[in-house]
Amino acid sequence: MRANGRGHSLPGVERTRNVIIGPRYQVRLEDLRDWHVIEVTCGRCGREGLLYPSTLRRRLPDYIRLLDLERRYACKGCGNRFGNTWRILEMSRNA
Ligand SMILES: [Zn+2]
Repeated sequence: MRANGRGHSLPGVERTRNVIIGPRYQVRLEDLRDWHVIEVTCGRCGREGLLYPSTLRRRLPDYIRLLDLERRYACKGCGNRFGNTWRILEMSRNA
């Protein structure tokens, strides 16, 4: 059961907020900065995964759209690819 707040138990993402860069289907990898992180919540098992732009850039072209990433992403817990929730979060920059 989740509280109403945006509490995160994930390491390194203690203070985040939702960032809306633009319509999700238009956002490309090149639009993301190093302080952004993509949080994917599995629609089946609820597992949360984090994708870091800097990591993605190493193996994917800058012009790839998040929409295309969604098609490739499979939950590490159950392998589900559908109904996942994608959110772009901003990490605190006080490091
Ligand atoms: Zn899952």
